[in-house]
Amino acid sequence: MIHFNIPPHTGKELLYIKQAVDNKKICGDGEFTKLCSQWMESRFHAQKILLTTSGTSALEMAAILCGLKEGDEVILPSYTFSSTATSIVLTGASCVFVDIRPDTMNIDESKIEAAITAKTKAIVAVHYAGISCEMDTIMDIAQRRHLKVIEDAAQGIMSTYKGRSLGTIGDFGCFSFHETKNYSMGEGGALVINHPEYNEKAEILREKGTNRAKFFRGQVDKYTWVDYGSSYLPSDLNAAYLYAQLESADKINTDRLTTWNIYHENFQSLQKSNVLSVPFIPKDCEHNAHMYYVKLKNLSERTKFISYLKERGIQSAFHYIPLHASPAGRKFGRFFGADDCTSSESEKLTRLPLYYGISDKDRNYVISCVLNFFQ
Ligand SMILES: *Cc1c(COP(=O)(O)O)cnc(C)c1O
Repeated sequence: MIHFNIPPHTGKELLYIKQAVDNKKICGDGEFTKLCSQWMESRFHAQKILLTTSGTSALEMAAILCGLKEGDEVILPSYTFSSTATSIVLTGASCVFVDIRPDTMNIDESKIEAAITAKTKAIVAVHYAGISCEMDTIMDIAQRRHLKVIEDAAQGIMSTYKGRSLGTIGDFGCFSFHETKNYSMGEGGALVINHPEYNEKAEILREKGTNRAKFFRGQVDKYTWVDYGSSYLPSDLNAAYLYAQLESADKINTDRLTTWNIYHENFQSLQKSNVLSVPFIPKDCEHNAHMYYVKLKNLSERTKFISYLKERGIQSAFHYIPLHASPAGRKFGRFFGADDCTSSESEKLTRLPLYYGISDKDRNYVISCVLNFFQ
């Protein structure tokens, strides 16, 4: 069986977890949490990064810090994971779904402006497959129309747009370290804060509404409940696992890119003969090989393709059912404009096995099965 995903493990994870235990500090904001934040801040040139319990909780923090409230509207793609939307719904705001581009599966930046109303407060840019949205256009709209931008970079850590790390371009960026992502801590995530005026509010929100972070820095002599908050900080045990992966970030990235490129070299010719389409990387984007997908002609072709691979011991996976068509999507949002691509393109897409350490043999077997399907 060739798995669709195997969670990354590079070697030092258990050693670091043992060190956290030996440090007698396994709750949040221990040594490994600090090491992870510092590593990311310096690598991505980020003003501040806080480790969170999930990508979802990073999105929730971003929505709250944007000051979203009942009656507000937020523009986002419908082709995304539920938590992009639940974080908005949590604040009482509603979702306005905009169509995607068929080439990158990202929000169609040319359709955003028409969806803006007097109630619009923010845009969520989801960097699908670790390939950046057209951020210059999105930031320009946001600036002119006074909107906040949240980057859902759950899949986009280590990717760049015009040389800038994804997550550091909007007001807030959100990473995920779920086991299906490029770097993992089981469950976890991080919030990138790109304006220092939000730092203190974010720390309070993350630490149950207290100013404990300030207390630990010696800036106040006792800590107390100062504002709304929740518990968004992960255990240092999980951070220890993650730190081992961040230390090997380039090794993991290179390994994934190798697989991505080999798939791409083999499948590009099929696109020329019009039987499938392959991912498109815009020229300003460097990606992290989060995912390799192919798009079949239609839903029935995709169904046949997935079962053909399954019969040969290969797990492949389709992806999101568009949110606007789901029961909660209908309740909490609306689709603006025509659904030219969201529904039709999502029905064609299948993701192939891609994980750190996939063997040459397994990769070649996947390639030959895919090629045989089209013979
Ligand atoms: C994985 C993912 C999330 C959620 O991250 P969790 O860490 O699982 O909470 C949100 N948005 C997108 C686009 C994702 O891929």
